[in-house]
Amino acid sequence: MTSRKLAAVQTVRSRLALPLDMTIPNTMKAARVVEAGAPYEIQDIPVPQITEPHQLLLKTGAAGFCHTDTMARKGEGHYSTRPITGSHEPAGTIVAVGDSAAAKGWSIGQRVVAMTNIGYCGTCPDCQSGRDNHCPAMKWVGLSTDGAFAEYVIVDCRAAARIPDSMPFTSAAPLACAGATIHSAILVANVPPGGILGIIGLGALGHIGVQLARIMGYTVVGVDSRTAPLELAKGLKLSPALLIDSTQSPEQAQDAIKRLVPGKPFPGLDAAIVATDAVPAFDFAVKILAKHGTLVMVGQPGSPVSFTYQDIIFKDITVKGSVLSTQANFRKLVELVSREGVEIYTKSYRLEHVMQMVHDQENVAMKGKFVIDFQ
Ligand SMILES: [Zn+2]
Ligand SMILES: [Zn+2]
Repeated sequence: MTSRKLAAVQTVRSRLALPLDMTIPNTMKAARVVEAGAPYEIQDIPVPQITEPHQLLLKTGAAGFCHTDTMARKGEGHYSTRPITGSHEPAGTIVAVGDSAAAKGWSIGQRVVAMTNIGYCGTCPDCQSGRDNHCPAMKWVGLSTDGAFAEYVIVDCRAAARIPDSMPFTSAAPLACAGATIHSAILVANVPPGGILGIIGLGALGHIGVQLARIMGYTVVGVDSRTAPLELAKGLKLSPALLIDSTQSPEQAQDAIKRLVPGKPFPGLDAAIVATDAVPAFDFAVKILAKHGTLVMVGQPGSPVSFTYQDIIFKDITVKGSVLSTQANFRKLVELVSREGVEIYTKSYRLEHVMQMVHDQENVAMKGKFVIDFQ
């Protein structure tokens, strides 16, 4: 179907099927990156329209703020699309549906959260083998197409999951990147149930990850050097079995892990997920990893991290990476969070205060996840 026809469907549906408060306007407010390194600009821009059959148009309920947004705003790494609306963590209500999405059961009024992935080809070796999070053809909502720091946003139904009425959009949005990434990393670590899984960095990803890992049957160790995230993790209903302040030595940390599980054949963490960009965290993680353990990298440090041949050959550690999540695993995550009552700690801002949120994010006392609340 052509984009013009899809746009027509969208208009008809908006006239006939939507309650009054869901009528789609022509323009909307959006926080946009116009120039690398400059603050977000709040602009009035046209409401986007569906152009591909798998797309959904969401009326944004909440939009998460991720460290990667700051990299994109500053033009760091490979993020060069400008002007662009920020946020790759959309949650909201469907107000228009592409043909293929409708055929899969998506409909107006459903509440959803969606990963950033958009435009999977569906035919490449990665899409065909269930590794759709590596599809080279797809784009990234909020990073290469307009994102959710706007009253409306286009997402891909294949990257979306329905959320129950009981889940606030502000709790759902952080699952789109932070939750998806840490859940996938736990799966990638592939530790047998009952093993010791450590999460290094208890920020937005880590505080969700320690809870998921407990639900998935692991003895969980949380590590951070900052007081506020350690306190947040300690106060969770599904708090880690052991919290380590990484300002202490790795040897002290290893002793604490030995006391946690006495008599373990290979003392230390069976897997360590490094969910921080801090380079020293990788070194600390390797030191508290058990022999034959696995390190999963999800943080994106600005400079290379190093391992010695002793780590790789004699300690026999495995180093893996993990990027976001597959379509299937993302839906499992949302179901798990909903069923088990995982706590998502958020601080909300209005769209016009987006730069205040950016500044607050740099405060060492920050904890949990920052979101823009549109409701
Ligand atoms: Zn992100
Ligand atoms: Zn593909």
